[in-house]
Amino acid sequence: MQSVTLKKSADSFIKRKHPWIFSGAIEKIEGNPSNGETVQIFTSDKKLIGNGSFSPASQIRVRVWSFDPEEIIDENFFRRKISLAYSQREKIIEISETNAYRIINAESDGLPGLIVDRYSDFLVCQFLSAGAEFNKETLIEILNDIFKPFGIFERSDVEVRTKEGLQPNQSILKGIAPDNLIEVRENGFKFLVDIKNGHKTGFYLDQRDNRKLISEFAKGKTVLNCFSYTGGFSVYALASGAEKIAQIESSSSAIDLSNKNFELNNLNPSLVENINGDVFEILRKFRDERRTFDMIILDPPKFAESVSQIQQASRGYKDINLLAMKLLNPGGILFTFSCSGHISTELFQKIISGAALDSGREVKIINQLTQSSDHPIALNFPEGLYLKGLVCSVN
Ligand code: SAH
Repeated sequence: MQSVTLKKSADSFIKRKHPWIFSGAIEKIEGNPSNGETVQIFTSDKKLIGNGSFSPASQIRVRVWSFDPEEIIDENFFRRKISLAYSQREKIIEISETNAYRIINAESDGLPGLIVDRYSDFLVCQFLSAGAEFNKETLIEILNDIFKPFGIFERSDVEVRTKEGLQPNQSILKGIAPDNLIEVRENGFKFLVDIKNGHKTGFYLDQRDNRKLISEFAKGKTVLNCFSYTGGFSVYALASGAEKIAQIESSSSAIDLSNKNFELNNLNPSLVENINGDVFEILRKFRDERRTFDMIILDPPKFAESVSQIQQASRGYKDINLLAMKLLNPGGILFTFSCSGHISTELFQKIISGAALDSGREVKIINQLTQSSDHPIALNFPEGLYLKGLVCSVN
């Protein structure tokens, strides 16, 4: 059997059951485990504590499958984990309202590196760790068996794969290849999702609960939706009676798709002003033109990809938030988000406070938001928290 033995210094974090074991924590490797193969994990005093997948290319050298030394990592193990994750989703997702949601959220569902999203009759997967890739065939068979989808599509076309010694990959894994656009339901609204070319696995499922909250605020408001992608927030705002919407997005294909989504939900296109451009520039232009709005949504892409980018990212967040606060009418509402895992909840709030001070406005947090409930955060894996949002009133 292949195994790793940990250094004495690793004892404390092993007690916390964090699923990542870094290369520096490993004293000794026995056998010759291949990329992603399962290894036994021993403490420095030779006690077996569980099993994990070995990843020789990555700084995260082992990802723990189980802290139960008795648990065998086989088809049954994966079936149990997937079934458990699915049963938890069934409790929180009302399928008649929503058929696009995350079934498996990697480490937080005890399956490091595996993402599985459901889009109606299709599953879209990402295999982001050597261990997930190593067990791919088994995982696909189980998913196919449980969900009986029309097709299982892979969107592992992401750079993090290279850290695990894997190539980015996109292909049909099982069943029929989907058309580019799939129609899904979300909270009763209809959306077209491009699972082949769209961002992530096609749609920002993590914002579903926050999009719903928009409905409570949008009635009668003039809304500016920044970084609007395929119009998710805009559909909810318009459907709940927003007076007008301007949306800024740099991708013209995303704007085209948002127009289709308005049509699909019978929303009046004459209420929408599409601006295909850069949010940083357009907000400055609006400031110079003295344009104002009752509600502004800022949902930018990840500004901090690594720890080294935290400072620069903070400046970016402050910049757009300061501009947005200046554009809001008194009593206006700001929905502001950061999806950078490296920006903590505390830091994000600090950045927004800095923007509030510089804007000269009186700003209060009225809601604190995070990722949707189908993107849970295991408490032994705090890195699972990445999406933070604040709803602020601006006077
Ligand atoms: N709120 C959206 C998701 C936003 S993702 C939803 O609920 O679906 C971020 C979006 O910002 C992406 O569509 C990306 O194309 C766009 N984007 C990135 N940088 C931009 C910039 N500088 N100006 C305008 N749009 C940008």
